[in-house]
Amino acid sequence: MRVTSRFVPPPWQRTAQAAGLLADDGGVRPTIFAEMSALAARTGAINLGQGFPDEDGPAEVLEAARDAIAAGVNQYPPGIGLPVLREAIVRHQAHWYGLQWDASTEVLVTAGATEALAATILAFVDAGDEVVVLEPAYDAYAALVARAGGVLRTVPLRFPDWRPDPRELAAAVTDRTRVILVNSPHNPTGAVLDRETLELVVELATRHDALIVTDEVYEHLVYDGAHVPIATLPGARERTVSISSGGKTFSTTGWKIGWVTAPAPLVTAVLAVKQYLTFVNGAPFQPAIAAGLDLPDAFFARAAATLRDKRDLLGAGLTAAGFDVSPPQAGYFIVADASPLGHPDADELCRALPGLAGVVGVPVSAFLQPERRSTVRSLVRFAFCKRREVLEEAVARLATLA
Ligand code: PMP
Ligand code: GLN
Repeated sequence: MRVTSRFVPPPWQRTAQAAGLLADDGGVRPTIFAEMSALAARTGAINLGQGFPDEDGPAEVLEAARDAIAAGVNQYPPGIGLPVLREAIVRHQAHWYGLQWDASTEVLVTAGATEALAATILAFVDAGDEVVVLEPAYDAYAALVARAGGVLRTVPLRFPDWRPDPRELAAAVTDRTRVILVNSPHNPTGAVLDRETLELVVELATRHDALIVTDEVYEHLVYDGAHVPIATLPGARERTVSISSGGKTFSTTGWKIGWVTAPAPLVTAVLAVKQYLTFVNGAPFQPAIAAGLDLPDAFFARAAATLRDKRDLLGAGLTAAGFDVSPPQAGYFIVADASPLGHPDADELCRALPGLAGVVGVPVSAFLQPERRSTVRSLVRFAFCKRREVLEEAVARLATLA
């Protein structure tokens, strides 16, 4: 669809265009994930692009959704979410992280982590406010900050270890910073922010009175070490909005059940925006995600172990095929450098890869602002949240690239 300038306020159009969200002719550019899934569908290539599992999650969770529909949980839930889910979120955060929240004032159910991010950014970022993000960054961040009229300040993460330089991070945060937006475990790199970095974020946010917004949708998919929510660090809780979602943990990315946990005044500010975005969503999926959050620890350990094996399978396959691989500690994705294979341009390679090898990946450049894309020019993101036989076939196909 073409968005004509008559209906688009000029400042938004300018920032959106600068951020690469609108095509040069003013048309809407599809997200890289939609574009690459369409390419896979069109060519029949194996889709290691968009991050979604190709098999169902736990039977108990699916069953609970069917039961809820049968029991008539089909009308608007309360604006802050069904009590059964808010209470399960509270139990989950206490059990795994020792965080205590009030289910009636400090928890908000949202339409996926995406709506939680949108409502949080729209609630706190005014025109001209700066938002610090570590880049590469999930594509929605830049789009939402632009929509809010905010100014994105990026701190580079560099291949292959993706650790931010503490001096660069410290220099990016100033009194103009309204929000420091972190994502750990991280998409697309699979990196986990170490404790020193998390501590530095808290210290900088405190010094400059900034809000911390943390996207932890991959919290249960950590393969080396354990997930440390930034809200557990001393001094963090009072200024942190934590965001997660059931999509990755329970292989239900199409359900779009997410949530926010934060002190009551912050939740209230997010709710004020959220109630006029979607108002509510996914009534029968809410008790189902609650059932998932209450599953025994063994479920979470098994899910992570299964994905760890898949990471190892794809990682070894990419290495054998000649890619230079950055081993991810967490998440759904592996970033691989295609330059040793004679492919210096990942954008070009990803568009040609279905023809060359029958596989789809995503160029990492899509996770950076246009002016910095050249720094990741030869990097491709591959998803390993797929069945073993699919990954084995993908690896065999990629081996033909050498
Ligand atoms: N944040 C990150 C880092 C993601 O990778 C994703 C994508 N799936 C989301 C947020 C969106 O989550 P949801 O599907 O729950 O909206
Ligand atoms: N988070 C998923 C990914 O990174 C995709 C979500 C989307 O399509 N917007 O692949």
